[in-house]
Formats: sequence, C-alpha cells, structure tokens
Amino acid sequence: MTTDSVPDKRCAIYARKSTSQGMDQQYTSIDAQIDACAKYVEAHMADGWRLVGSYQDVAISGGTMNRPGLQEMLRHVREGKIDTIVTYKLDRISRSIRDFANLMYELDELGVGLVIITQNFDTSSPMGKLCINFLSSFAEFERDMIRSRIRDKASANAEHGLWIGGSPPYGYKLGDKRALVPVEEEAPFVRDMFRMSAEGHSPQKIAAYLNESGAPLPHTRQNKSPLPWTPEKVRLVLQRRLYAGIISHGGKEYPGKHEALVSEAEWRAGRNGVQAHPTQTRRKSHPDICYPLQGLLHCPCCGRKMGVTYSSGKGTVHRYYTCVGRTGRRKDCKYPNLPAAEIERVVAAQLVDYAEDETVLSIVRARYPQLTSLDIREALSDAGELVGHMSHPALKAIFHTLFKGVVYDIEENELRIERYTA
Ligand SMILES: [Zn+2]
Repeated sequence: MTTDSVPDKRCAIYARKSTSQGMDQQYTSIDAQIDACAKYVEAHMADGWRLVGSYQDVAISGGTMNRPGLQEMLRHVREGKIDTIVTYKLDRISRSIRDFANLMYELDELGVGLVIITQNFDTSSPMGKLCINFLSSFAEFERDMIRSRIRDKASANAEHGLWIGGSPPYGYKLGDKRALVPVEEEAPFVRDMFRMSAEGHSPQKIAAYLNESGAPLPHTRQNKSPLPWTPEKVRLVLQRRLYAGIISHGGKEYPGKHEALVSEAEWRAGRNGVQAHPTQTRRKSHPDICYPLQGLLHCPCCGRKMGVTYSSGKGTVHRYYTCVGRTGRRKDCKYPNLPAAEIERVVAAQLVDYAEDETVLSIVRARYPQLTSLDIREALSDAGELVGHMSHPALKAIFHTLFKGVVYDIEENELRIERYTA
C-alpha cells in the first residue's frame, strides 16, 4: 500500500492547564491532553496526518491570548509550518468567544484547520464548518473590519475627487486615472432631466420624454442589454450628487475632479422636484442592507408583520421597520416607522439576560450540538456588549435562532419578545 497520493497534514498539539496544581505529579493533565491528541493524530496516519510539535501553557487562564506556548504555536502557524492544530477541548484554545472567533477567522484565511478531539469538531471538514456557524457570526465582526479597510482604499480615491469604482454613471465615461469625463451624447439629456424635474414634471413624464426623443439608453452592467428609461432610473439620476460635481463616499462629500453637468442650484431644484413625486411602488429593501429583525417584528398597533424601508441622503442610509398596513392598498394602519438601529439595540441588550437561561441554552445547543453551554453563555453575554460593532447578518443569525416574534412599541417603550420554547 502506498500513501504517496495522500497529502501530508502537519499537525501540532496544543495543551493548557489553568493552575500549576498537581504539576509535581509524574503524569499531569497536560500529559494526558497531549497523549490523547497524539493518539488521535496517530489514528489518522493513513490520511497523511503527521505530528510536528506540541505546545503547552501551564498556570495560564484561557481568558487571555497572551500565552507563550500559544503565541509560539501561532508564530509557526503564520510561518506556514503547521497545517492543523489538534487540541483536547475548545476551551483549551480560548475561553473568550471573541478571541476564539478572531483566531478562527485567521486560521480560515491561512487554510489551517482546528481539530478538537473530544468534541468531534474538525473545522477542515464540511460538518465542522457547519458547526462553527454560530461562532462565526461573531467572526463577522472581524470581517467587517477588513471590509472597512478595503473601503478605506475607496475613500482615498474619493478624497482625491476620483470615481470610486463600478461602471461609470450615465452622462460620463471613465477617463485617464479614474477621472470621469462627460459623454457628449448623454450630457444634454442629464441637463434636460434636472430642468424638467425642476419644472414639476414627474419621473414618469421625464422617462417617456427620454424614450421618445431617442436619448441614449441608461447604462447597464456588462453583458446585459440596455433597457428603456423608467421612472426609477430617472429618479436615480436626479438624486446623484455627482452631477453637481461632487464625489460622495461614506457619508462625506468631496469636490470631484470631473466636470459638473448642472450647477448646485440646478441640482437642488431637480432633486426637490423628484421628491415632490413620491414613488408609487413600494420601496424594496436595499440589496446591500440587512435587517436583523425582518420577519420577526410585528406592528404593535395592528399586529401585522412589519416590512422594511430605508431613506438615504448625503451618503448615509437610515433603516426603518414599517408596518405593511401603512402602505399597500388598504393604508389602514398609521403606526410610525421604527428606526431600525435603535430597536435592534434594545432587542440585543436582552441577550445578556438569556445567557443564564437554561431554555435558551438548550435551544441553541439543539441547533449547534458542538457548542458547550459555556460557549453559548459567552456568546450571548458578548452579543449584548458587542451590539454596536456586530454586523447585521450576525445579529440576524442570533435573533432568528432565539426569537419567534418581536413586538416593540416605541411610544410606550415596551418590548415583547416571543421566544422559541424547547
Ligand atoms: Zn400596523
């Protein structure tokens, strides 16, 4: 039999003990952890597993990552000397869910696996990946930080008055060094749109005019054939600061290097015109916006499910939950829109109390059997603390795991949560 085709998997064992108690004995709990892990690696020899080292910390709590043995191992991981970390229990690596999530994210990026031998938890297997689902909600936080670093690069472009990315907006093409240049055939129609809107013409009328007068069609993404002008596309043009010579990004505005197609006053007049003609169709949720309580929240006034909406201006987006009875055909509910960030904060603050709730723990454990009660407790108490920093998809995963329905009366400041019962 040959194992030539089996890829080599270099394994390192990590062991930890919180106290130095019993260390004078011949066979310590550290030895026991290492032995058990070594046996586990040995049992997988046919799969190419090979032990390359073991690292340990004695008398150091799992509440800190500042452990010499752990840090040495992580250095070797980053140097590419280790493919898989093998440990006895999850809490040997870390007792803090936040540290653990951050570490998991780094290991994932490096393509390094983590095997926890007593908890059937192998992150290099699809099943293991599934099991860390709950934990990785918290790692979303880290991912957001990385995304924001990418956004910083886009900000640098914006600060220099350059186009940030994506296909150029109507009326412009991409010139040298990411600066926008007006397109001769399109620019006059942009001016027409602002002028007509300022004169009180509706987006519907303006779209019809553009289609009748043979204006070049709106830009589409690559490999998509252009479609005629619609009121929605007209609205989009009329709301872009870009046409007044401004690059907006991340809630800030910068003077653009490109030529403005309308003056500031013309832009305002055009934009005000479009606002006087509210959109007829129900506004759909913005594709990039996530609403953690969507599907859970009910109107305190009429009891129907709440939909979602948003408003945007000056580059910032405000999310709202809105009763479906406010819009649509009947319009029989007058309950005000709920500011999403505020209510999500109120709801997430409740999670701390859930950390000690046995029913909650058993629900989460039923869904994520690989997590210990301690893991879940830490996750929930951290969620309350981290709410301001957590990504919306992460919050959504947590809310939807625990809650069946939520009603929040903003006028009475009263919150009712219907939880899943085991
Ligand atoms: Zn309602």
